Amino acid sequence: MADQKEKDPCVRCGHQPEKSDRHCVRCGAPLVNRCSKKKSPLHKGCSKVNRQDAAYCADCGAPTVFRESGLL
Ligand SMILES: [Zn+2]
Ligand SMILES: [Zn+2]
Repeated sequence: MADQKEKDPCVRCGHQPEKSDRHCVRCGAPLVNRCSKKKSPLHKGCSKVNRQDAAYCADCGAPTVFRESGLL
């Protein structure tokens, strides 16, 4: 059974999240730095999970959710 690895602490406040958390319970910051590129008729979208310091997606170059949330 592949268990999810420990999440990294919140980039904004350093709070250690639970494994199932998707947003920080202290400050509301997103915890997973996904690519923000949405599915559209012309593009299948991108759901790449980038490193916490990535302001832009390593796959497609669109801003990441951290960038869009003003964290980077
Ligand atoms: Zn936080
Ligand atoms: Zn992408």
